[in-house]
Amino acid sequence: MNATKRLQSGRVWNDHAFYVQIIIRRISIISASFTIVAEIWVPTPQRGLIIGLSVVYIAYNLMLCIRRTKPKLAELAVNLALCAGLTVTGAVYSNVLYHLLLMRMVLKVGGDRARRMAMAVMVVYVAANTFRPDVVTVPLLLEIIYNVIAFAVLSFTAVYMHNVIANQLKHEGKIAELMQENARHYEMAHTDELTGLLNHRSYLEKTGNLSQYVLLVVDIDHFKKLNDTYGHLFGDHVLTTVANIIKLGIRSKDMAFRYGGEEFAIVLPGASLELGMKIAERLRYQVANCDFFHKGERVKITISIGVSRKDPSEDSEDAFHEADSALYRAKRQGRNQCAVF
Ligand code: GH3
Ligand code: MG
Ligand code: MG
Repeated sequence: MNATKRLQSGRVWNDHAFYVQIIIRRISIISASFTIVAEIWVPTPQRGLIIGLSVVYIAYNLMLCIRRTKPKLAELAVNLALCAGLTVTGAVYSNVLYHLLLMRMVLKVGGDRARRMAMAVMVVYVAANTFRPDVVTVPLLLEIIYNVIAFAVLSFTAVYMHNVIANQLKHEGKIAELMQENARHYEMAHTDELTGLLNHRSYLEKTGNLSQYVLLVVDIDHFKKLNDTYGHLFGDHVLTTVANIIKLGIRSKDMAFRYGGEEFAIVLPGASLELGMKIAERLRYQVANCDFFHKGERVKITISIGVSRKDPSEDSEDAFHEADSALYRAKRQGRNQCAVF
């Protein structure tokens, strides 16, 4: 899946949210462990229940961590029930578990629903507190008020962060789309539509950066007569077939261009003149022996090729003129042949 598709499908956000959820699951296990430590340190009347519930909480979340399951609302509901149980039994630090739960809910359901669910968490928290064994002491009331404010701040911050990140991802998606469109335009501007080869513009750009290569200039013989006799469409068919023969006949590091009309240029970086002549001769042979048919009639197509080598001291235009003059020699000598400058 490429970047844009990932962004458009929202998978990137889901990936982030998923990993943050996993981290929060781990933190909540650590937090619940603190409740157990507190009970061992300073035992309360409900010690057995609190440790039991904490162990269930830890085991449940540990199982989710090991399974690496996608967060589900049911999982959050079970956790909320366990939190309420811990509060009712008077466990310390249970408020931390609500905070963590709240963050997980925001990550799970996103902006709008998260606000409503934060309210639900607050209601459960306050209700559970009214059943606490040490209920309605002033410090406890203060604690409840503090936690409700903390819930509100935390959930609104989390919702805000969620929206910021979602917006950022949307922009990144747009940027990726523009970049793709740019790349498509670049490709269109550098590719010949009929043959799919690189075009003249590409030839100028690519050869401008190369200091040394062997150049083959390929020209279809008597192409004008072919067009006049069999029509332009057949001419186009010949052009694409010759282009395909060229594409298949060169190495991966070589480059083939439609230089213009029925003329092709092939650039062989790091090749010797001998190798250039060998490739040229093979292409000439393949085209001459390729079966072209027009309305059942076999049509013989041939090409002529001029070969030159560009040295670092020369510029690319000189190399082209050399290959071109070799090509004209091949034409003068009777066509369907290769000539080296
Ligand atoms: P030579 O053997 O000396 O190369 O002769 P030629 O007829 O091949 O050369 P010339 O340059 O006289 O003719 C080239 C022809 O190629 C003329 C033009 O109509 C034709 N041509 C150029 N581009 C296209 C194209 O995209 N499709 C078709 N069907 N013909 C094209
Ligand atoms: Mg020609
Ligand atoms: Mg020509």
